[in-house]
Amino acid sequence: MSDRPVLLVTGGSRGIGAAVVLKAAGAGWDVLINYVSNRAAAEKLSAEVRLLGVRAEIVQGDTGTEEGIAAIFAAVDQQFGRLDGLVNNAGVVDQTARVEDYSRERLDRMFAINVIGNIRCASEAVRRMSTAHGGRGGSIVNISSMAAVLGSPGQYVDYAASKGAVDTFTIGLAREVASEGIRVNAIRPGVIDTDIHASGGLPDRAAAMAPSIPMQRPGTSEEIADAVLYLISSQASYVTGAILNVSGGR
Ligand code: NAP
Repeated sequence: MSDRPVLLVTGGSRGIGAAVVLKAAGAGWDVLINYVSNRAAAEKLSAEVRLLGVRAEIVQGDTGTEEGIAAIFAAVDQQFGRLDGLVNNAGVVDQTARVEDYSRERLDRMFAINVIGNIRCASEAVRRMSTAHGGRGGSIVNISSMAAVLGSPGQYVDYAASKGAVDTFTIGLAREVASEGIRVNAIRPGVIDTDIHASGGLPDRAAAMAPSIPMQRPGTSEEIADAVLYLISSQASYVTGAILNVSGGR
């Protein structure tokens, strides 16, 4: 067992999560990379991380289900035996649609992953990290979105609402566990150039949005990862309940 701190990144196989994994490994964290379906991407990333001299394991699990969450935290306990940080990053959009066209199934999936999965992972992390439960403290970073304040009209208002829930959860949990050694913060990325836009049926969305962004360009996963690394580091030791916009001014 190493003395290095252990970071769990949900949805860590691609996009923002993968950038967080790489930067955390570079900063000396052992990492547990969660993925849902793209095992090849998770394996490739874990091999890259091991070259940095830290431990990396992968775990399949859908954060929108109890079975998935059980598998993820079984891996935390069995493979690492400790947890020092959680980046609640797994999140999905759906096809662009107006509110009157949403199906019940769409909303169930969106909120199961973006909200309930996020809260359930935080619950499991608190059980392991809180000094009230015999833990040694730790840090949680929730990946929200600027959509929480912009509302995403005509694209995915449901997604925006799910991220609004993430923001409020961040504030409440931060205050609930602040005296138990756990800091809880969120980041609101703006438009970031990842595969998520293609999964919503708009592969060119990041480039197309550039003129509406004050900095005139989408952000990169690495720029979000830098902010996450700050929040999980001891340099942010007095930062909790904060929601940081990383959005090029939008
Ligand atoms: P992405 O490129 O689509 O990557 C999604 C990652 O999450 C993949 O690793 C995927 O695993 C995993 N994942 C998806 N559903 C999952 C589930 N149910 N359980 C576990 N893992 C799951 O997404 P991204 O753009 O990096 O987004 C990451 C986070 O940032 C999300 O919460 C998103 O809402 C937020 N965000 C993104 C943007 C943006 O413009 N990109 C802006 C604001 C906020 P597989 O590889 O197995 O598919």
